[in-house]
Amino acid sequence: MSEDKREKLKEFYFQIKGCMECELGKTRTNFVFGSGNSGAEIVFIGEAPGRNEDLQGKPFVGQAGKILDELLLSIGFNRSDVFIANVLKCRPPENRDPKLEEINICKKYLLKQIEIIDPKIICTMGKYSTQLILNTDTSITKLRGKVFRVENRMVLPINHPAAVLYTPSRFGILKEDFQRIKTILDNYENPGNISSPCDLAETGATGSFGLEAAANLLSDSNSGISAEKGPVVSTEPDLQKSKNEQLGLF
Ligand code: SF4
Repeated sequence: MSEDKREKLKEFYFQIKGCMECELGKTRTNFVFGSGNSGAEIVFIGEAPGRNEDLQGKPFVGQAGKILDELLLSIGFNRSDVFIANVLKCRPPENRDPKLEEINICKKYLLKQIEIIDPKIICTMGKYSTQLILNTDTSITKLRGKVFRVENRMVLPINHPAAVLYTPSRFGILKEDFQRIKTILDNYENPGNISSPCDLAETGATGSFGLEAAANLLSDSNSGISAEKGPVVSTEPDLQKSKNEQLGLF
């Protein structure tokens, strides 16, 4: 099952990695697809690649990434247990905030990734991913730490790990939120043990993933995406494994 998802993700990666649909395509060094376990039960979503991510083509490899690793470890996970992606796949110059038009163009890629991985929990990190996934303009301050049910998944908004770099005391809050993620996952089949999900309507959110819009993306020949073909992948198990690891897909 997970292998099937990995192949689908890989195919999707090669289809969209040459995207030039918004102006960020011209200034990026690398397209940052996201990485991790293609069969993950949890998907973490950040904002956009920063300088290190842009240079290495991988998400969360800078200081914020170290904090994320520490938080994952605090609940017994590492990167190969989860999938990590961003709202935007390319770095905004000088790490400026993403523009609404960029998010609106790029979001179909993230939504397609979620559709393929089909996680139980989506953890949105910071304002942009939270507002996108919950389809709201309510501030992250009001949404942080609450649990929402959207379609068949739980969504938990938390602060972006980079917030700790400016306000170290936020690490404790993030750690508590990570414990909450673990509780949700451990009790997923017995939701009575989780405090009731919050009412989306109370936050002004409609919580639509818009997955239908992304559903036909792989076969949409009019999408404007440069559909690069991936390299011929060896069927040798070791070579295959190393290729997957290079792409950051487990
Ligand atoms: S739409 Fe996304 S992937 Fe395409 S150029 Fe813009 S940021 Fe990059």
